[in-house]
Amino acid sequence: MPRSTTPPPVDESRRQSALDAYAILDTGPEQAFDDIVRLAAMICDVPAATISLIDRDRQWFKARVGDLPPQTPRREAICDYAIANQGQLLLIEDIEADPRFAGHPARIDGRPLRFYAGAPMLSPDGHAIGTVCVLDVVPRTLDARQRDGLEVLARQTQSLLELRRYALEQRCLLAEREAFAQQLEAARLDLQRRHDRLAHTAIHDPLTGLLNRAGLSQLRASEADMARLDAGPYALMLLDIDHFKQVNDRHGHLLGDRALRAVADAVAASVRTGDVAVRYGGEEFLVVLPAARLDGAAEVAGRIRQAVEEASRISLPFRLTVSVGIASGDPARDRPEQVFDRADQALYRAKAGGRDRVVADDTLRFGD
Ligand code: GH3
Ligand code: MG
Ligand code: MG
Repeated sequence: MPRSTTPPPVDESRRQSALDAYAILDTGPEQAFDDIVRLAAMICDVPAATISLIDRDRQWFKARVGDLPPQTPRREAICDYAIANQGQLLLIEDIEADPRFAGHPARIDGRPLRFYAGAPMLSPDGHAIGTVCVLDVVPRTLDARQRDGLEVLARQTQSLLELRRYALEQRCLLAEREAFAQQLEAARLDLQRRHDRLAHTAIHDPLTGLLNRAGLSQLRASEADMARLDAGPYALMLLDIDHFKQVNDRHGHLLGDRALRAVADAVAASVRTGDVAVRYGGEEFLVVLPAARLDGAAEVAGRIRQAVEEASRISLPFRLTVSVGIASGDPARDRPEQVFDRADQALYRAKAGGRDRVVADDTLRFGD
């Protein structure tokens, strides 16, 4: 089509943004829009009608009746004039008689287009994004009611588009909220993990992995743990590495640390789940054995001694031994400090008696 004039300028980039915001281009057919073009054709008594959206370089039909292609180049779009028509309906009674459009290439059922009427659809900001238009292959006009009807349909189409944009925005907001909630949850989990790690570090000895003194204090402050440990008679064990100072002096601190780990591993491997093993001092260990009698505790102590012996044979260049003192306690009768003192005295006797042995606080000796 030789275009003799161009449409008056519009704020094209903002108009295009307004159209893009509906995310409607190239979507599939929808009943609601199809109904509108059917109604437009009916009201105006024409063979063709479209909902035409003016994109960058094309007009694309969201809905159409009549023998029309799905889109056309923008330079062929009479609707481009309609959207530049100050929001007013554009009526061209005879295309051939209008120098702007004479020779227009559009055809319906093989016959040249002769009649056009398009009502612009205006976004809330006043941008004309397209039209509801009716077409015919014979010159004609629209009466006032038909024009009014076409304008009503353009406004209804615009409302549909607004609803669509609103739903889209809501979906985006929802997705953003979900993403935010997920980020929050991930941050919370991360914080929880850091907290757990810190809490674990605070109550465990880094060298041996056993509980440290702070861990023991926390245990004693915990009602649930104490209820379990205080449920009945228990045994308490104090273990001290023999001549450990010499180990350090002769073999250095690195090997000293390795020996400490070997003893801690022996302790950990010999106690049961529910027993509490603590690195109580530099080379001293405390074990609480709930529901254990003295002879049961002595057996455990014996196992620890054996395990230490074996570990030192396999992985240390010197013989490593431990002395152990054990005492039994009854929560109904003894304060924990008293039981600890009795185990400490037993340990003292084990040392005094020559080390490398287990002594119970009733002066019974095991595993000499
Ligand atoms: P005994 O048989 O009477 O227990 O003699 P001992 O040398 O083991 O006893 P003492 O309490 O006199 O010495 C303990 C030594 O343990 C002092 C220190 O050199 C060593 N020690 C304490 N904590 C650590 C530690 O974390 N790493 C190392 N390598 N050595 C430690
Ligand atoms: Mg010591
Ligand atoms: Mg020692």
